[in-house]
Amino acid sequence: MMTDIEIAQNARLLPISEIAERLGVNTGADEIEFYGRYKAKINPSFMKRLKSENKKDGKLVLVTAINPTPAGEGKTTTTVGLGMAMNRIGKNTVIALREPSLGPVFGIKGGAAGGGYSQVLPMEDINLHFTGDFHAITSANNLLCAAVDNHIQQGNVLDIDPRRILFSRVLDMNDRSLRNVIVGLGAKADGTPRQDHFMITVASEVMAVLCLSDSITDLKKRLGDILVAYKYDGSPVYCRDIQVNNAMAALLKDAINPNLVQTTENTPALIHGGPFANIAHGCNSVMATKLALKLGDYAITEAGFGADLGAEKFFDIKCRTSGLVPSAVVLVATVRALKYNGGIKKDELKNENVDALIKGSVNLEAHINNLKKFGIPVVVAINRFDSDTRDELGALAEICEKQGADFALSDVFAKGGEGGIELAEKVVKACEKESAFKVLYDDSLPIKDKITCIAQNIYGAEKVNFEAQALKSISEIESLDEVYSSCPVCMAKTQYSLSDDPAKLGRPSGFTLTVRDVRLSAGAKFIVVLTGDIMTMPGLPKHPAAYDIDVDEDGKITGLF
Ligand code: ADP
Ligand code: MG
Repeated sequence: MMTDIEIAQNARLLPISEIAERLGVNTGADEIEFYGRYKAKINPSFMKRLKSENKKDGKLVLVTAINPTPAGEGKTTTTVGLGMAMNRIGKNTVIALREPSLGPVFGIKGGAAGGGYSQVLPMEDINLHFTGDFHAITSANNLLCAAVDNHIQQGNVLDIDPRRILFSRVLDMNDRSLRNVIVGLGAKADGTPRQDHFMITVASEVMAVLCLSDSITDLKKRLGDILVAYKYDGSPVYCRDIQVNNAMAALLKDAINPNLVQTTENTPALIHGGPFANIAHGCNSVMATKLALKLGDYAITEAGFGADLGAEKFFDIKCRTSGLVPSAVVLVATVRALKYNGGIKKDELKNENVDALIKGSVNLEAHINNLKKFGIPVVVAINRFDSDTRDELGALAEICEKQGADFALSDVFAKGGEGGIELAEKVVKACEKESAFKVLYDDSLPIKDKITCIAQNIYGAEKVNFEAQALKSISEIESLDEVYSSCPVCMAKTQYSLSDDPAKLGRPSGFTLTVRDVRLSAGAKFIVVLTGDIMTMPGLPKHPAAYDIDVDEDGKITGLF
C-alpha cells in the first residue's frame, strides 16, 4: 500500500468551485473566497442566505474513541471514511473537522488529515499553513500580550500585578524551551522583567473563543471578556480593559469563516478551528458544524482524544452552549488500543494476543456505558489495522455483542468509503432511533459538584481531592461574577487513562481524582480544571517527524504523514 502522502498526491481532486456549487454556493457572488484551486473560505453572506431559506438541519453524528495508544486510533480517518461511505449509500453528508497544529505534524503523531484512502485534501496544505487561520490566531493572541506589557511600560494605570498575568504568548510549534521564559530584560525602555510562558497556539483561549463564537459580534464580546491578569488589589483585568479586543477581532475576520476542502472521494469537508482537547474543548468551530448541518442531511464531526475527554466536552460544552443536538455517536475501537489497555507495551502491539485484548476490553465497556448516559445511540467502529488477526477481530466482535452494542468492522483506511458501508448503514439506522440527548450535569451546580459529577460518572473515580490552590481559585472565580460560576467545566486530564494517571489503563476504579488548580476562561465561557501535569507546550521527541519531511524543486512534499 502507498503511504498517506502518495495516496493523497495520486487522488483526483475536483476544483473547489465545483464542490461549492454542488453545495448550493453561488460562486459568482460574494459567497465564497478562493484560496487557490482546492481551498476556499465560506463567506458569512452564504450562511446568512441559508438561514433565511429556513432549510431544516441534518443529523449530527459525533466520532469519538476509546482511550488511545500514543499513535492515535483513527477518529479522523473514520470520520472521513464514514462521510464518504454515507455518500456512497446515497446519504448527502458533509464532514466537519479540526485544523491540524504544526506541533504534532513535526513531532510524533504526524498530520491530522486522516489516513490511507480516507483523507482530506490537499493534505500538505491542510497540515502546514492551510488558509492562515492559525497565523491569525497566534497574532491576535500575541497582540494582547504585547498590549499588556506595553500597558505596564506606559505607567500601568490599571495597576496590573506583573506576577499575576494569566494570559501568555503562543506559537504553533512544539518548543519546550519556551515553556518558561523571562521577558522585558535590558534597559528601562525594554519593558518590565517578568516570568512569562509560551503555549502552543491550539491551547490559546483565542482559539477556543473563535471555535465557540457564532458571529463577529459574539467574537468581539468573548475576546473582550478574556481574563488577562489581576491587579495588585486582587481585582480582575479583562481584555476589554486593555482595549485591544476589537483589533484582535479585526485580525480574525477571515479566520472566523469556515474552510471548505474535499476528501479523497470528493466529499465536501469543512475544516475549521483546532482547540486542544486537554486545556480546551477539542472540537472544530460551532460555525462549521452548523454550516455542515445546513448543507448535509448528515454532518459527521470529531472530538479530540478519547470519549472521556472529547465526547464529554463536545456534549457538555459545545452542544450545551450552541444548542446542537447530536443524533448518534460512533465509538472508534482498535485491536491495538484494547491490547494496550490490557497491559501490552507499545512495541509489542503488533503481536497477536487475544487474552490481552479481552482484558483491555473493560475500557471499551466503560466508554459504551458512559456514552449511553448522554441519551444517544452508540455504534462501535472497529478500525481495522493490517496487523489485526482473525481471532482478535472475532473476539472484539463478540465483546461488542455481549455489550449489546451495535458495531461494524471499518476498513476505510485501506479501502476508502467502500470499506465503511456497513458502518454507514448502522449509523443511518442509529440516527433513526429516538435521540434523547441530555447533558451530564446542570451548569447551575457549584463548581466542585460539576467536577465531581464528571469524575464519578465518566472517569469512575471514587472521590475528588481538591488541592489548596484549586480551592483558592474556585472561591476566587465564585467571587468574580455569578455568570462565571455557572459556566460548564472543561477538564484537562491525560488522554491515556480514564483516571488522571496515564499508567492506570483499562477501567480503573476506587481512585481519587486530584484537582491541582482551576482557571477561568471567561471569553470561552468555561472553567478549565487541571488534573495531573497538563502540557500546554509540548516538546519534540528524539526523532521528530520533521527530520523526514522534504520538498523538491517543483514544490512536491515528501515524508509528511
Ligand atoms: P485520531 O484522529 O484518533 O488521532 P487519526 O485518524 O489521525 O487518529 O489516525 C492516527 C494515525 O493512524 C494516522 O497516521 C493514520 O494514518 C493512522 N491510521 C488510522 N487508521 C489506520 C488503519 N486502520 N491502519 C493503519 N493506519 C491507520
Ligand atoms: Mg484526529
